[in-house]
Amino acid sequence: MTNGKTAIITGASSGIGQATAKELAKRGYQVMLGARREDRLRELKNDIELLGGTAAYQVTDVTSSEQMKALAQAALDQFGRIDVLVNNAGLMPLSFMNKLKIDEWDQMVDVNIKGVLYGIAAVLPHMEQQKEGHIINISSVAGHEVTPGSAVYSGTKYAVRAITEGLRKEIAPSLDIRATIVSPGAVATELTQTITDEDILTAFEGMEMKMLEAEDIANAIGYAVEQPAYVDVNEILIRPRQQP
Ligand code: NDP
Repeated sequence: MTNGKTAIITGASSGIGQATAKELAKRGYQVMLGARREDRLRELKNDIELLGGTAAYQVTDVTSSEQMKALAQAALDQFGRIDVLVNNAGLMPLSFMNKLKIDEWDQMVDVNIKGVLYGIAAVLPHMEQQKEGHIINISSVAGHEVTPGSAVYSGTKYAVRAITEGLRKEIAPSLDIRATIVSPGAVATELTQTITDEDILTAFEGMEMKMLEAEDIANAIGYAVEQPAYVDVNEILIRPRQQP
């Protein structure tokens, strides 16, 4: 049932990460699930196993470099190799800058940027040793354009694109290591639950649109990882049809 490959997914306890874990497990990957909420990870592992897949989990806070290293080590201990890392964990507490939500700015920098860097640091040495691997970093449409209220979130997502692009360009041509940016538009997940700015929440209320499902992004990730080794899907930008 497994294809012998291992994928680590951060932020696997809900939304895009959860759907990606299921999708990759369905495609035969042994999946190592990382996030902070253990009950959700345990439930997901069980769901995947009931469908015939292979999964393990490690409670992980991506803002800790040590915990990210431990997540990579858990994948190696359990499955023997790391083929794919999906750096997906993220927060989006949008706010207007003059609200000075400095704690939320800190959280976004810590999770959305540092978490991605720690993920890269945790797996890159193993991928270089294996001479192959694939790092997928989740950016956003907000990593392509800034809207009122998205300044800091967009800043983190522009950073994710810059980091991924830089990584891709630095990989030695002799190594089959790929780096892909996935930039979703609006996806129906729990992501907006971290918003505390009332003005942003009010602006969201009037919005009517058929949003993407987490599975739509999981399918895009499945496509990227299953291309032949010489094909590097640099970026997938995917919006709901009704999103401008
Ligand atoms: P969710 O809120 O459903 O999922 C976010 C995930 O991140 C959760 O599993 C959460 O797990 C995890 N997470 C948050 N903080 C940490 C942390 N410190 N350590 C480990 N895990 C953490 O949102 P989405 O699925 O929508 O978001 C996934 C990614 O997609 C994010 O990077 C987001 O920015 C991006 N994105 C989402 C869009 C959307 O419209 N939904 C659009 C564009 C991009 P736990 O709390 O258990 O730790």
